[in-house]
Amino acid sequence: MISNRIQNLIESETLLMAATCREMRSRGIDVVDLSLGEPDFDTPIHIRDAAKLAIDEGYTHYTPVGGYVDVRESIIKKLKRDNDLDYTFEQIILSTGAKQSIANVVLSLLDEGDEAIIPAPYWISYLAQVQLAGGVSVVIPTQLESGYKITATQLEAAITPKSKLFIFSTPCNPSGAIYSHEELADLVAVFEKYPNIIIISDEIYEYINYVGKHSSIAAFSQLKDRVVIVNGLSKGFAMTGWRLGYIAAPIDIARACSKIQGQFTSATCSITQRATIAAMSTFDSSITSMVEEFKKRKKYVESRLKNIPGLRYNDPDGAFYFFPDVSYYFNSIYQNKIIKDSTDLVLYILENANVALVSGKAFGNDNCIRISYATNEEKLKEAFNRIDIALQALTLPEHESIA
Ligand code: PLP
Repeated sequence: MISNRIQNLIESETLLMAATCREMRSRGIDVVDLSLGEPDFDTPIHIRDAAKLAIDEGYTHYTPVGGYVDVRESIIKKLKRDNDLDYTFEQIILSTGAKQSIANVVLSLLDEGDEAIIPAPYWISYLAQVQLAGGVSVVIPTQLESGYKITATQLEAAITPKSKLFIFSTPCNPSGAIYSHEELADLVAVFEKYPNIIIISDEIYEYINYVGKHSSIAAFSQLKDRVVIVNGLSKGFAMTGWRLGYIAAPIDIARACSKIQGQFTSATCSITQRATIAAMSTFDSSITSMVEEFKKRKKYVESRLKNIPGLRYNDPDGAFYFFPDVSYYFNSIYQNKIIKDSTDLVLYILENANVALVSGKAFGNDNCIRISYATNEEKLKEAFNRIDIALQALTLPEHESIA
């Protein structure tokens, strides 16, 4: 009954883990959930107030497919203020989240067999969306030693006559890596040689940056008309449930995305759209205080990770995840069962420590696991206490040395 297209579709492992946690909790199990990709803070008060006002003012009807013009204009102002980029309102299309924005662009651009180049580790949904569009993902693996970032040489080696898209996130989910302006310039030099490739720059973690100013590949004038910025409210404003993402795109891509939405969702929520004006017009302490809190938690998690034998990890520059290499624990044994890979380890920790994490396999690197620190320090402490005990209970294989 179910189409092959959907039967073959990979399920989102982060959403599956969230569902497993809910199910375990409903059985009375006290699970500490570090699998979440969402801030635990409340949405800033001025944004909530704007939404309440929108209801009272009667913003309860269908909106234009791409969003109200004044909301799109507020995004244009944000792009000028934060990124020094210029757009017209027709180039901004609002959607029900960055996830839908990326799906719109992927569906707009890929024909059967077209290739999308995706550096690993990648955000889970890129591959599924490319698959759904009939495209082929060409994954570029990266290593801890290069900070989980690709080089220009790696990029060029992945390009074929069928390459149509390049998709990446900076700051990156799951590695937290951020491409500097100089690193982006190296990639831009390669893209200049291949004018048919469109770049999706997923900047949803723009504000969760611990090292300085955000750099967007859209700032390179050589790539004018070839970069689609994807961003939204979910991460920086703690608004995951409100469902608003947007693209800033070349006009023909924006029109194509609007056409898809016109048949799929009509538009995103009118009330969320009105609240977006309040979000876009402020970059203030309501945002920076969340980032400061993430910074503190990151420091705490680092202090715990460094005391776990055998882990290797990068210092994340942004987002709210650590992505440690846990391969030291592969082939260890617990009650006659062998832990073969990141999925086995995550399941072992879930069942024995009641801590939820996500396997690196889901992000294209099976040696790693993703740990989210978008949760308070008390819960982080409890989680690491439990993880320490669970890992100590494993019978390790012979290691020549601890990395
Ligand atoms: N892109 C990345 C890299 C993400 O981590 C996420 C959410 O986890 C999204 C996009 C989707 O965000 P939204 O809630 O706006 O759909």
